[in-house]
Amino acid sequence: MQLDIRQEAGPDHDVLGERLRGIAELTAPLVEAVTELPLPERTTVRLVSTATWRRNYHQYQLGLYNRERGSLSGRLREQFLPYLRETMAGRLNGTPSDTWTRTWAMCIEDAMGEPETLVLAENIQHKTATDDELHQLLAHELTHLAQYHASPEMFDFARTPLTRSWGEDLWAVESLLEGHAQWAASRITHQTQGPHLTRTDEGIDSCRQATESTETDKRARLESYTAATAFIEGAIDKIGLGNFNSVREELSLCPIERELDSLSDYLLRIDGLLR
Ligand SMILES: [Zn+2]
Repeated sequence: MQLDIRQEAGPDHDVLGERLRGIAELTAPLVEAVTELPLPERTTVRLVSTATWRRNYHQYQLGLYNRERGSLSGRLREQFLPYLRETMAGRLNGTPSDTWTRTWAMCIEDAMGEPETLVLAENIQHKTATDDELHQLLAHELTHLAQYHASPEMFDFARTPLTRSWGEDLWAVESLLEGHAQWAASRITHQTQGPHLTRTDEGIDSCRQATESTETDKRARLESYTAATAFIEGAIDKIGLGNFNSVREELSLCPIERELDSLSDYLLRIDGLLR
């Protein structure tokens, strides 16, 4: 794995760029060791301006939108296009500026469809992130890259509202990905900093932050993260990391939303399905 850390946010952010580089070099191998998932051959982290991020984010969302729209024809198109437009409107039109200041980093696809982590220089500088927080941030985001590398389909599923709405059950793929990233980040930061570090309630991560506009939204996200992390921790504990990693190969092995409240129901259902 080749780590490609790029400082593209201008000379004001050179110091932050160097800090990120040093921290990524420590964190990346730990992500592979803790998750037992390889990172992409070229693992890219770009420190960018908010303007660059907005452009890249919009381009990525537009790609998702066009792909989902392209999958519809005839009557299905008539039926589902308004739903798709409505669901993705916030992501396509941009959200109020105060939410951008809470986003620190995000895993998206570049123009060639390759995954990369974008870190927002101005937001982190503004918050004067500590090294502990940067470790936690990169551990979380690099875990997303490892998840993407292991199963682009699963990652895509969490990002495409229309695809996600097919079928009777609502698969809790996003909780699976976020809970797993938090689970890994907490193990990794215990190794780099010792067990004193707890997750801060400020803007670490993620795509969800781009859509939340109130304190209530923020609290709801933090609660959902905590619940998802506890669920993933319990699942790995019971079935083992190897079995857990095979979950992403098959949608039917993912938890369904209602199972997030009952780990035992989930374990019972997948018991016969695991190899
Ligand atoms: Zn995340």
